[in-house]
Amino acid sequence: MQNPLAKFMPQFGGEYPKPFMSLFKKMTLPLNGDQESLKTTVWTAYDFAKHHHEGQKRSSGKPYFEHCLAVGQILASWGMDQNTVIGGLLHDTIEDTKVTFQDLEQRFGKDIAELVDGVSKLGGIKFSSRQAKQAGNFMKLLLSVAKDLRVIIIKFADRLHNMRTISFLPEKKQIRIAEETKEIYIPLAHRLGMAAVKWELDDLVLKTLHKTEHMEIEKKLKASKKERDKIIQNVILPVKRELKKYNIDANICGRVKSHSSIFGKMQKRGKSFEEIFDIYAIRIIVDKVEECYLALGIIHQMYSPVQDRFKDFIATPKSNGYQSIHTTIIDSKGQLTEIQIRTREMEQTAEIGVAAHWRYKEDKATTPDLDSNIKWLRELVNILKDESSDPAEFMNLLKIDMFDDEIFVFTPKGDLEKLPVNATPIDFAFQIHSEVGLHCLGCKINHKIVPLNTKLKNGDMLEIITSATQEPSYGWLKLVVTTKARTHISRYLRAIESETSIKIGKDILEKTLRRLKRMDDMKEINESFAKFGLNSLEQLYESLGDGTILVRDIFKKLKPKEHIQIEEDEQERQERFIDLARSSSKGIKLQGIKDLMVSFGKCCNPIPGDEMVGFITRGRGLTVHRTNCNSLPILSKESDRLIPVEWDFSKKELFSARIKVISQDSPGILKKMSECISSVNINISSVDLKVTDNFATAYFIVKVNNVKQLDRMMKKLIAIKEIDFVERTDK
Ligand code: MN
Repeated sequence: MQNPLAKFMPQFGGEYPKPFMSLFKKMTLPLNGDQESLKTTVWTAYDFAKHHHEGQKRSSGKPYFEHCLAVGQILASWGMDQNTVIGGLLHDTIEDTKVTFQDLEQRFGKDIAELVDGVSKLGGIKFSSRQAKQAGNFMKLLLSVAKDLRVIIIKFADRLHNMRTISFLPEKKQIRIAEETKEIYIPLAHRLGMAAVKWELDDLVLKTLHKTEHMEIEKKLKASKKERDKIIQNVILPVKRELKKYNIDANICGRVKSHSSIFGKMQKRGKSFEEIFDIYAIRIIVDKVEECYLALGIIHQMYSPVQDRFKDFIATPKSNGYQSIHTTIIDSKGQLTEIQIRTREMEQTAEIGVAAHWRYKEDKATTPDLDSNIKWLRELVNILKDESSDPAEFMNLLKIDMFDDEIFVFTPKGDLEKLPVNATPIDFAFQIHSEVGLHCLGCKINHKIVPLNTKLKNGDMLEIITSATQEPSYGWLKLVVTTKARTHISRYLRAIESETSIKIGKDILEKTLRRLKRMDDMKEINESFAKFGLNSLEQLYESLGDGTILVRDIFKKLKPKEHIQIEEDEQERQERFIDLARSSSKGIKLQGIKDLMVSFGKCCNPIPGDEMVGFITRGRGLTVHRTNCNSLPILSKESDRLIPVEWDFSKKELFSARIKVISQDSPGILKKMSECISSVNINISSVDLKVTDNFATAYFIVKVNNVKQLDRMMKKLIAIKEIDFVERTDK
């Protein structure tokens, strides 16, 4: 009996839909693989993509899924492995549907999920003419983002289908896409040796951007077809006969060159269509390399070759890996005809270039690994060493994976920014504009909010969130690697620092004058800065704030005759004030910042050894918290006011810490706890004990030097057999 599920799920014995079967038949499958299970896998992807694109339409009005299927079919026709074809079916799911990377990973595995993810990343990039200069970078990026070249191959299949159906789009969009194809994809196809893809894209671009010329060539090609076929047959038949005599089984055909290459020749040589002789070529495909040379010899015996038009790309392959022999002969009617001779394998490579490396080899049906890909790149680099045609550029293109010192990321508009490795969103923000950097509040990478210390990766799409009230902090200096960011941040912080000193200086002056009951002198003092070699009142306050000028120095200079009784310890007092205001007084070292009042967060009571962070409060100086304190404004708009602080271990001070101990309620338990604490030389400042349901909960406030000492004590406590739980607590 048929499985009742089969009606909906063909994998249970039902009939698969025709479009699926046409795709599946095109696929090259490993000979030793389980065909049925492969079919089910491909079907699952087919069904999944179809389901998730349900309801979406293309500009042509056709269901969106037809595009996905077409991309899968192109990949299948190139002989790509099953994961790449499935990647093609699913290539728009992350970008255009609710499907996530995780969904794909769960259902189809990491390899396929990563392929689709790679394609989506490239999909976010829109190339516009203002980026023309970036074409080189763009190609580098394509290659480096696509750690896996299969991503590029899927992208090419996608682009090919989009170009084939471009006429349905509004004209403006047509032009943009055609230009992008021309600037980026065609040169890349050429470099990757994907001749057939390049050929077709070339024509489609010409058709879009130069409609009239394309039509003209089309018309003339049609008109001259009969005559051309005659000429071609005139050569093919005798050659075929002759090769047979030598037991060479050759596949011979005549092919017209691409419209765009004819167009290019007409333009470059300034000739009319009729004057171009090499609009077609005869291609001879044989089995073995030796046969190529044998065939060449035979042909040169039959017809005289044109001397300077012979090229042996078998002995010396082109930089993109292309191999073939090209020769031009004069046929019996005196016509010039180009003949290309190559093996089947060379033909395949010429058709799809790099893609050929993911084809199933006839003898072994293994999934190609990245190793062979890298090997291929290396071989290509070796080939380049013998090549004279612009190898430097191509080398650079390939080297991107081998050099790790730069990365490329995207702006939301799809512009590319080049950054050094280890760069963070802050570097990126400053690279965009110093104002964006200075007000950088947060960052989204690939639409997800990330911390500002996130290291950027190749191909990340960044969106900087700014806020007018946001300012750089000292911590930022640790996060940036570009000079531009560092310079801007330091400059800004220096300005802030002097601002703080100015405030403190003014405070000192006012307090001292008030105590001396000499507020009337304020005006005179405020106008006296020039007498101290300073340029402004601010500079005078700043000098008072950082202690380089004392209040008594001011009086000495302004009122030398009045022996104003500033108490002996006035200088000391000012120093003490500054010292108090200075972070180091509490055993804390701050980087670069000085002259701030320091207090400890009551919420978390940090002690030496704790990881800490300082929070600049408005008007109350710096409050120091433990980094894991809940009341810290992480990610809020005040997170910029956090600065890194360190303990100054040269200071020996005692700090309070609070611990919670839970134990069974047994006689003398409190005594046991207290003795344990005292045994590690720690003083207890207070104890609070509650007993409920046979459990005792004790809170101790102890005086410790540092975390190590506290930890030691806590370990000793927990070792007591009645004690179940020991914890440092803030409440
Ligand atoms: Mn697509």
